[in-house]
Amino acid sequence: MHIRTRFAPSPTGFIHLGNLRSALYPWAFARHNKGDFILRIEDTDLERSSQEAVDVIIEGMAWLGLDLDEGPIYQMQRIDRYREVIKQMLDAGLAYPCYMSEDELNKLRDEQMANKEKPRYNGLWRPEEGKTLPAIPEGIEPVIRFKNPIGGSVIWDDAVKGSIEISNDELDDLVIARPDGTPTYNFCVVVDDLDMKITHVIRGDDHVNNTPRQINIMRALGGLPPIYAHLPTVLNDAGEKMSKRNGAMSVRDYQKAGYLPEAILNYLARLGWSHGDAEVFTKEQFVGWFDLANLGRSPAQHNPEKLLWLNHQYIQNADPVQLAEATKPFAHQLGIDTENGPDFVQVVALLKDRANTLIEIAEGAKLFYLPAPSHGTEQLAENIPSAIKPALLDLVNAIKHAEPSKEVYAAIFKQVLAQHQLKMPALAMPVRYALFATTQTPAIDSVLVVLGKDEVLKRLSKAVL
Ligand code: GLU
Repeated sequence: MHIRTRFAPSPTGFIHLGNLRSALYPWAFARHNKGDFILRIEDTDLERSSQEAVDVIIEGMAWLGLDLDEGPIYQMQRIDRYREVIKQMLDAGLAYPCYMSEDELNKLRDEQMANKEKPRYNGLWRPEEGKTLPAIPEGIEPVIRFKNPIGGSVIWDDAVKGSIEISNDELDDLVIARPDGTPTYNFCVVVDDLDMKITHVIRGDDHVNNTPRQINIMRALGGLPPIYAHLPTVLNDAGEKMSKRNGAMSVRDYQKAGYLPEAILNYLARLGWSHGDAEVFTKEQFVGWFDLANLGRSPAQHNPEKLLWLNHQYIQNADPVQLAEATKPFAHQLGIDTENGPDFVQVVALLKDRANTLIEIAEGAKLFYLPAPSHGTEQLAENIPSAIKPALLDLVNAIKHAEPSKEVYAAIFKQVLAQHQLKMPALAMPVRYALFATTQTPAIDSVLVVLGKDEVLKRLSKAVL
């Protein structure tokens, strides 16, 4: 079987991590099986859909590296095809016009509720052998209803939830076209999944209720239903269903907050799927391991600390050149001119082991691009006691003639400390202060290398003399 999967978002606003997971899994399943992955934009809700939302989806997927084999395919561009299938179904007696007005439907529902029955369409306009239909009322455009099978049940073996059986008595004759002829949501999904030869539908379990309806229509059209895998919800860190309303962040927000796409992908992969106890893995490993059998059955809970931890792992292990490229936009936002001052790659390499986000790297980098500090006399006296000056002078002299490397600078420090019988902080703190007017910096020997010998000598000499 040639595997074909799809991600079928409705572009109605905002795509959060939970939504993107519904793209990641079908993508990984297609890639694992050398199949095809299709993006289908379900934009038939004209009022709520927007091109901006589509752009955010496409951008987010591209950022994570979820590449497409087909699409984006827009449902709004397939309306003629849906109308064609509706016509075929009417001709074949698989669907029928229903002239029940909104008022009549409401009345029916009220009666059923009063009798403690489940509200459902009563089949008034459903043609049956030997049945006489009511006279067609004037001036009413009908909806088109699907002739759902009567009796029996729909059973499918859900790849996540196991066998599910829904009695056909539970299912109404679904409206597949509105009075103005526009097709309805569940119907479009069926036509698309059939036309696009989708073999595996991997989607959120908020669609479980739609599945038996979709399977019935699919079978009526002579199609073979795909395999369904309904993913449990993603909960936010407070244990509620993740949504914009309770503070979910969009993919763009994570990008702006200095997360790496690799970390997000790794995080999302584990949000409802596992491979033994593997926590940190590459995209290639993920694709190699991905299967439906290891999808979680209970809701996954978003854990921001874990995401931050993963981001740190990826930053720490990143190639400094690439990491520097990724960090540049953040640095520029902070007003750092990365082309003017120490080598930015070296700065990033120095800071990456302690940073959780690209923003933290950029913040740390500021130190190296600010103009040399101008110390006030009083602070200078306080932070660089005169007793330490002879040691500082020796340090300056030694650095002047030294090969600028971390190892050499470390050795120089050791030698000066021994010579003056000092402990490291007694010397390192004044040096930091002299260089940056702060005592908070990464390891001093590395800092000297990164800041550059000329600048170090200039700043130290100025502070000591
Ligand atoms: N458009 C639906 C949604 O965004 C998904 C439909 C499907 O995957 O079948 O929830």
